[in-house]
Amino acid sequence: MDAVVYRAYGEQPVVEHVAEPACPADGVVVQVAATGVCRSDWHAWQGHDPVPLPMVPGHELAGTLAEVGPDVAGWSVGDRVTVPFVVACGRCAWCAAGEHQVCPDQQQPGFTYAGSWAERVVVPAAATNLVRVPDDLGLDAAAALGCRFATSYRALRAHGDLRAGQHLAVHGCGGVGLSAVMIGVALGASVVATDLDPAAREAARALGAEVVDPAGVPVADAVRDLTGGGAHVSVDAVGSAATAAASVRSLRRRGRHVQVGLLLGEHAAPPLPMDVVVAQELAVLGSHGMSAADYPAMLALVAAGTLDPAALVTRRIGLAEAPAALAALGTPGAAGPGITVVVPGRS
Ligand SMILES: [Zn+2]
Ligand SMILES: [Zn+2]
Repeated sequence: MDAVVYRAYGEQPVVEHVAEPACPADGVVVQVAATGVCRSDWHAWQGHDPVPLPMVPGHELAGTLAEVGPDVAGWSVGDRVTVPFVVACGRCAWCAAGEHQVCPDQQQPGFTYAGSWAERVVVPAAATNLVRVPDDLGLDAAAALGCRFATSYRALRAHGDLRAGQHLAVHGCGGVGLSAVMIGVALGASVVATDLDPAAREAARALGAEVVDPAGVPVADAVRDLTGGGAHVSVDAVGSAATAAASVRSLRRRGRHVQVGLLLGEHAAPPLPMDVVVAQELAVLGSHGMSAADYPAMLALVAAGTLDPAALVTRRIGLAEAPAALAALGTPGAAGPGITVVVPGRS
């Protein structure tokens, strides 16, 4: 089958013929219909988040089952599925408690094993990780659910406890930030969003956010002005020392910062204003995806039309265009606003 492969960090990936993946007894092989282009793939390719080499990127995927392992019950070839980017083991105490997103024995396609920028990809522990995609949800929109959309949803619902009428600040308007804007607006919050890229700010505005140009003023001051003293919930959807600190400083007293953007390399241990955290009793929380078991509540909002992940998918490309799309993630604004998906079946 065809797959995008890189053999060294930062070296241009290429489309190659690779061996068909072997179906595990407890897992499945998914025929990939669509797979997202995400900054996490770029971080891995740059070596910020070490992965075994060579590697096939891709961790946001949806498709149909091509093969079902002999120990898997309740799933058949042809079923439409997606999967969280944290593929949990299904056997440990954390998984038993429903906390699959922090499973210590987790795997991640595109990071710990060959990912979904390929015609087919393996998903182990199918009973724990497969999510059925409703018939009326397109597989390209479903691909966006596995990482950025689900992570934003859990960040705002489970961690932020965001309520109607509250203020939400979103720092960074890439795929995860725009997902947070859409979900915040749907939950009835007033959303303020910021991004260096004017096109990303415009996309956030189109989804219902008020926007701040970070070139003009200190972002945290602008957010506090626009929100009558600070946001109830603020999300760093970039993952940098500057945006993490700005997010914490955007909060009102008792506010909740949720770190969604990965903090890697030189940004791994950012200096946060812990004096303000203590004096104003702020909460600093991390969000790392969402377990398959928590998808039905989110999918119900999609079915009701409250959430529309399809609106975030702005570009569809073939496998041959994927290497350039990966490289473009290193230049702010170069990838264009919204979510790009790779459609391996497209020539
Ligand atoms: Zn992702
Ligand atoms: Zn586990």
